[in-house]
Amino acid sequence: MNFLKLIAIGITAVSAICTTQRAESQNLQSVSDYNKTHARLLAYQSKVQDQIKLTETEIFANQWIEEEEPEMDIYTEGWDSKLVNPYNPANVPDTKVIDVSKFHIPCPGRVTSPYGYRPRFRRMHKGIDLKLQTGDTVYAAFSGRVRLTNYERRGYGYYIILRHENELETVYGHLSKFLVEDGQDVKVGQPIALGGNTGRSFGAHLHFETRYMGYAINPAAIFDFENKTTHTDTYTFDKRTFKKSRDYSPSSRYKSSKGKYSGKSTYRIRKGDSLGKIAARHGTTVNRLCRLNGLKKTSTLKVGKVIRIR
Ligand SMILES: [Zn+2]
Repeated sequence: MNFLKLIAIGITAVSAICTTQRAESQNLQSVSDYNKTHARLLAYQSKVQDQIKLTETEIFANQWIEEEEPEMDIYTEGWDSKLVNPYNPANVPDTKVIDVSKFHIPCPGRVTSPYGYRPRFRRMHKGIDLKLQTGDTVYAAFSGRVRLTNYERRGYGYYIILRHENELETVYGHLSKFLVEDGQDVKVGQPIALGGNTGRSFGAHLHFETRYMGYAINPAAIFDFENKTTHTDTYTFDKRTFKKSRDYSPSSRYKSSKGKYSGKSTYRIRKGDSLGKIAARHGTTVNRLCRLNGLKKTSTLKVGKVIRIR
């Protein structure tokens, strides 16, 4: 009797879980209730644990094509960090209400890869990928000024960083052509570049980031890409939601005490590392790592050994 009861409880619990998952998958497709969607996206951003769980479900796996892309973060890693992230984390306010009412969708394509944790690379994808064809126009998301145009062969390809009047910064990657120059003022919706497939990218798409003083905000928390609008007129940045995972905020690992980037040139091998993983994480190639360290592609990596990465 007791045993049967236990089974009954077990079945109820399982069906409850199934119902929740169904409800969630339905919510994901619903676009009518912006506020709900917005709250849910903010919740994703604050709970890295939940996000990992969600990305591993079939619902998520089937919904997006994960484009192979650099897993590096141009704000904290790579050669151009000094230029790319001029912000001192100590100066970032706890909260900030950002006016996003005057906006333009950077390109009209669908989302092919969301912001968030990528289990395959064990890294955060700090922007969102939008489908486009090479040569399609990319538009300024807000009014502001071109802070940086740059090229990174192994990373974002041709990319632009705009600094906006609302204090956000937006990043546009894998471009094929710049239509603006450094320091130029741009109006919201102004064509700034042509999209492409430059850098480490497989298939033409736009990598789009929204940053507040270096902190990578989920662009989908601000924009409703499906309906080509914003969820609300203001986005409230809350620093606390970024503290749970260092991957959400500018890393301090790459800075010396004076706040300048030291540009680490060595790396200590950890369990589970491969040359491919180390190369991807540091924006370099397996061939280069082999050359620098006198290794072969097939060499066994010793945990704890320090190798040169640049
Ligand atoms: Zn991307």
